Amino acid sequence: MNQHPLVVVGSGLAAWTTIKELRKHDAQREVIMVTASSGDAYPKPALSTAFAQGKEAAHLRNGVAADLAAANQVQLQAHTQALSVDLAARQLHTSQGVLAYSDLVLAHGAHPIRIPLAGDAANQVLSVNQLEDYAVLRQQLKPGARVLIMGAGLIGCEFANDLGGAGFQVHLVDPASRPLAALLPEDASHQLETALSGLGVVWHWGTSVNSVNQSATGLQASLNNGEQVPVDLVLSAIGLRANTDWLQASGLSCDRGVLVNAHLQTSDPHVYALGDVAQYASAGNRTLPYVMPIMTAARALGATLAGKPTEVVFPVMPVAVKTPALPLLVAAPAAPTAGAWVLLEQGAWQFQNQQGQTLGFVLAGAQTSLRAKAMQWLTAP
Ligand SMILES: Cc1cc2nc3c(=O)[nH]c(=O)nc-3n(C[C@H](O)[C@H](O)[C@H](O)COP(=O)(O)OP(=O)(O)OC[C@H]3O[C@@H](n4cnc5c(N)ncnc54)[C@H](O)[C@@H]3O)c2cc1C
Repeated sequence: MNQHPLVVVGSGLAAWTTIKELRKHDAQREVIMVTASSGDAYPKPALSTAFAQGKEAAHLRNGVAADLAAANQVQLQAHTQALSVDLAARQLHTSQGVLAYSDLVLAHGAHPIRIPLAGDAANQVLSVNQLEDYAVLRQQLKPGARVLIMGAGLIGCEFANDLGGAGFQVHLVDPASRPLAALLPEDASHQLETALSGLGVVWHWGTSVNSVNQSATGLQASLNNGEQVPVDLVLSAIGLRANTDWLQASGLSCDRGVLVNAHLQTSDPHVYALGDVAQYASAGNRTLPYVMPIMTAARALGATLAGKPTEVVFPVMPVAVKTPALPLLVAAPAAPTAGAWVLLEQGAWQFQNQQGQTLGFVLAGAQTSLRAKAMQWLTAP
């Protein structure tokens, strides 16, 4: 190991958890954190449930960067952008200068995908993937606001529930024909649709937003089916893409994320990656942009960085969809997997292959309490 510090890029769950895990094994190794944000910690999943919890953006902060840095012996370089990496020289180029590293951990997340929109208010469309974005959303949401959400995936549906439940008029627009179409069996989707309709959510299926313009009463969203929807705010929630652009010139292997092996090592042996930016060979070459995989990966990486090479083994990690109108627990197989959803009993579905093996499940409403039993379906021969 050379004498240079370990450099970690990012200050989200992946970065802070990796450092805390490292410190369980090694109190000595010098660590520098480089982050474009303040470095403060917050639970990102709470961004889509904060109204129901009665919390503003400022209430969600649960760790001050300077305190976390002191507690974990980290030199913090906040508000600093990583710009490029020279793998041969083992140097990270940042907006504040050049840092030599012994090992580099890439934990700098993903950014919201945006589609080009026409209109004189297209630049007012918001996305929420960081606490700062959420503060902007809250500041712009006036009582009684009409909100159009682009995308009926996990984040779009969670915001629809949170904002609809708080009395905002919510429109959800999606090219698909039902919510969470990629994750749920059809009847589960329709139950969620009914539950959110009960909060006043208005659905616009099979279409998408073309343009957003100023109008006399707020904004006017034009859909490509010809509908005009008068709203006050547009929130785009059509997915995330790993931040790999600034790494392209380095030659590091990237696909939908930075490619990592079971040791979370990239194509360069001194560079590791985890979190929303990583694409895991040991998980069928998937990105896993969720909390549980991050905690699992950080545990393994913390040990590896302390000199105890540890492979990450991802267990089955169901995702709780935070839609209190119809809570859901989803363990969907990676697409494309051959098989079909089978209704087991009211509110419980199994994804079975041709041999009758259960490869996934969905639990809805009261059935979400059957998590432990459902996990056994997956391990049963
Ligand atoms: C609204 C919402 C709700 C969610 N709900 C759930 C849920 O219920 N359950 C669940 O499991 N998951 C949920 N997720 C996903 C989960 O929160 C994320 O997978 C996780 O927080 C990602 O952590 P990360 O550390 O990889 O990335 P991030 O938290 O995005 O952190 C990346 C950090 O890197 C910094 N950075 C980026 N680029 C650079 C650069 N070039 N130089 C320096 N710094 C840089 C950023 O400023 C940021 O601090 C949710 C996500 C969202 C957006």
